[in-house]
Amino acid sequence: MAAELKKLAESRDLTRIERIGAHSHIRGLGLDSSLEARAVSEGMVGQKPARKAAGLILQLIKEGKIAGRAVLLAGQPGTGKTAIAMGLAKSLGEETPFATLSGSELFSLEMSKTEALTQAFRRSIGVRIKEEAEIIEGEVVEIIIDRPVGGAASSSGSSSSAGKTGKLTLKTTDMETVYDLGGKMIEALSKEKVQSGDVIALDKASGKVTKLGRSVGRSREYDAVGPHTKFVRCPDGELQKRKEVVHCVTLHEIDVINSRTQGFLALFTGDTGEIRAEVREQIDTKVAEWREEGKAEIVPGVLFIDEVHMLDIECFSFLNRALENDMAPILVIATNRGITTIRGTTYRSPHGIPADFLDRLLIISTQPYTEDEIRKIIEIRCDEEEVEMSEDSKVLLTKIGTETSLRYAIHLITAAALACQKRRGKAVEMEDISRVYSLFLDVKRSTQYLMEYQSQYMFSEVPDGAGDED
Ligand code: ATP
Repeated sequence: MAAELKKLAESRDLTRIERIGAHSHIRGLGLDSSLEARAVSEGMVGQKPARKAAGLILQLIKEGKIAGRAVLLAGQPGTGKTAIAMGLAKSLGEETPFATLSGSELFSLEMSKTEALTQAFRRSIGVRIKEEAEIIEGEVVEIIIDRPVGGAASSSGSSSSAGKTGKLTLKTTDMETVYDLGGKMIEALSKEKVQSGDVIALDKASGKVTKLGRSVGRSREYDAVGPHTKFVRCPDGELQKRKEVVHCVTLHEIDVINSRTQGFLALFTGDTGEIRAEVREQIDTKVAEWREEGKAEIVPGVLFIDEVHMLDIECFSFLNRALENDMAPILVIATNRGITTIRGTTYRSPHGIPADFLDRLLIISTQPYTEDEIRKIIEIRCDEEEVEMSEDSKVLLTKIGTETSLRYAIHLITAAALACQKRRGKAVEMEDISRVYSLFLDVKRSTQYLMEYQSQYMFSEVPDGAGDED
């Protein structure tokens, strides 16, 4: 399994693709060292108290070992709840898992709601697995390749090394040691074109050889210590290096790798299906053993559930229970709903969240933006999308943003840039903004249009006020 985990950690880096998404301008929470929110920083504008509160949560997470906390981001649409969650994710660094899920997704996946939630939880729990590799660094004194039976003596530069053996004399800090060489190591030495006087790192277990440079007499280039390097003195006085190799994976990834019906590749297709409870139990036991032996550490990450009002009463009781687990991540949920019905019941409650679950939450509220803040966010988005915009257009777009919504104004940036491109203009001008403003309706105008032409739409026979709340 270790090899698969390693393969996974490496290939995961390759699958991260940077795109310009709705929140790609957000690079962190924009806080200073004392966790105060800077006015504009890391793509974040305004919303200072909420960002500061998120910073405190970040601190709690970074200090580690807290589990089962839940935070609610509550506020009107477009007030930056998702942006703050993204900022939190970015500030956590790559090693802390951050999983996201939208409340509505739970009802469209081809698996039960609780399975989908379990997978989301396990995607946000990281396991740092430590392995020790024994690496010796030193200066090459001599390489002797044994004379093959019936053949001539050859040097390290020979082409075929199959079946060959040899000796390598390596000078470590104070002494010379002779190592027996197998075919794999001979091949590695010849591939790296290693000669006497080179300083190399030799991994005895894997046979890997890395050329580090040339010996520079007594200054010993090769004494450099890497971040995970520990020196140990062996019984014969030889100074060796032990390097810790750390793999970071999530519990969900370990589940999928071990699920006989799915296998490793399912992680890339996302087609993981349901995972049997026995598989998870075995993995939890194994991980607990690794933790006891000091081979692994749990890294509780963050699970962000947007549109949390879409969850029903069963999901909420699942969350209540899941947060009791000692490996539980920090749960961050967001909603833009006020007092509404709890899905699956006839009861109404704040944000459609049951009272017992609400009681667990640290609540952070987000506030509507000022005109100046909207202007700054628009400028940041223009930079992010590499759109040149005249000052007048920015003023107009800010006005549109205050009168309609921030999100609508952000959408118009891309559309106006296209309109500008079409007329072969250099920068977006007022005419481009006006053009796309008339082409794409905002919610207010769309509603007004609906009111006027309601009778011509399908199913307009439903009497007023009988509409579904969701
Ligand atoms: P909803 O309730 O509709 O889901 P929301 O509160 O999650 O809305 P976001 O999606 O975070 O709102 O914000 C809308 C857009 O504005 C996004 O592109 C977001 O990145 C950007 N944005 C919101 N707040 C800020 C901010 N403080 N600084 C920079 N960009 C922001």
